[in-house]
Amino acid sequence: MGPPGAGKGTQARFVADHFGVPAISTGDIFRANVSQGTPLGIKAKRYMDAGEYVPDEVTNLMVRNRIDEDDAAPGFLLDGYPRTLAQVTELDGMIGYTGHRLDAVVVLTVDSEELVQRLLQRSETDGRADDTEDVIRRRQEIYTEQTEPLIEVYRDRGILVEVDGMGEVDDVTARIFAALDVIPQS
Ligand code: ADP
Repeated sequence: MGPPGAGKGTQARFVADHFGVPAISTGDIFRANVSQGTPLGIKAKRYMDAGEYVPDEVTNLMVRNRIDEDDAAPGFLLDGYPRTLAQVTELDGMIGYTGHRLDAVVVLTVDSEELVQRLLQRSETDGRADDTEDVIRRRQEIYTEQTEPLIEVYRDRGILVEVDGMGEVDDVTARIFAALDVIPQS
């Protein structure tokens, strides 16, 4: 978890590689569907372009189908899901069914000035449709309103791992691994 620009996608890949599990990024799956013009992509696009969350029922079904795939059987890392309290409940139901359990919820903390800088920088290099100033602001608001409350939920469950997301990518990765008690691979 973390606000837009916190570095979730970047770090998710390192963590997933370490554990040999797929990194399942809802944002990436939505973007792939948008670029292929699938019915899911057509449905999701207008929300994404406005910086709004895609409706829970659409997102939940997509995640349910993805974690049912064979490569996710040994485990998986979710990037960008759950983002609403309803998604938390839904995820609990899904993994109750598949027999998985949530080991840890990693939250990346980055100060808001740095976030805006990173996203504006990304808008120049990646050309993501939702990295314009207005949409960035809307995504930050929605994160604060809808996703930040999840931090307390997972803290209460005792599985929250808070990590300082400022500084170099490698340093953040090292902090995540240290917080997860991962032995570095040489
Ligand atoms: P960000 O960098 O803003 O966190 P992502 O790449 O993770 O962006 O997601 C991009 C967009 O995809 C979001 O702004 C939202 O519209 C949609 N999205 C991704 N995950 C979810 C989710 N769990 N629930 C609803 N919408 C989602």
